[in-house]
Amino acid sequence: MKFTLLTLFPEPIEAYFASSIMARAVQKGLVDYRCVNIRDFAADAHRTCDDAPYGGGAGMVLKAEPLAAALDSVAADSRHTVYPTPSGSPLSTALIERLCGHNELVLICGRYEGIDQRIIDLYVDDEVSIGDYVLSSGELAALVIVDALYRHLDGVITRESLEEESFQDGLLEYPHYTRPEVFRCREVPPILLSGHHERIREWRMQQRIEKTRRVRPDLYEAWQSRTAGDEHKE
Ligand code: SAM
Repeated sequence: MKFTLLTLFPEPIEAYFASSIMARAVQKGLVDYRCVNIRDFAADAHRTCDDAPYGGGAGMVLKAEPLAAALDSVAADSRHTVYPTPSGSPLSTALIERLCGHNELVLICGRYEGIDQRIIDLYVDDEVSIGDYVLSSGELAALVIVDALYRHLDGVITRESLEEESFQDGLLEYPHYTRPEVFRCREVPPILLSGHHERIREWRMQQRIEKTRRVRPDLYEAWQSRTAGDEHKE
């Protein structure tokens, strides 16, 4: 899968693609990326990319012309283009799975108050919010989307790791423990040392249900009504 990111600040993006699991995915050829500096497409001597909003109000807006030129340079109209923005659709497992269906994504990293609406109208296929809060820049939001996506690609991490994660079947994950058996007077739950795989599976499921009910009652209720519906069908 190829990610093309348009940004005014390439440094955090380059650092992310050069680190850890992502760096290995790039080396193995599972992921390809390019980072395009929007400022390279500004036409004036000061390489201006922002201007005051029409109608007044706080802050600046990322100008349409340099952004359109940067988007044209990567043929964005023939590629699926995503604009991370707090006013987009919430990022979810379902949306991630849909975006994984594209071989290439173009992501626009916003700054200031955001980008000129005409760029959204002309180029953007999906406006995506990573949560109900406002970050100061789109680079982190774009990288959150990239990170949530690329781990689903074959060969990046094991299928088993993906299957046992939070949200996969509507519940949060069970707690994990590793050596030592006792840490600051806290013991590993004895069931995990028992070797009874079936009982461990049941304990983990119980932990998932309890945690989901406690911290995400919305998910818990949806899971409960789905489970009740499935039992009714049987
Ligand atoms: N004025 C915008 C608003 O109220 O919705 C916020 C602009 S924010 C300061 C600058 C950029 O950060 C946005 O253009 C967007 O690219 C990115 N951003 C901030 N919060 C985000 C979020 N929750 N999800 C996705 N992108 C976000």
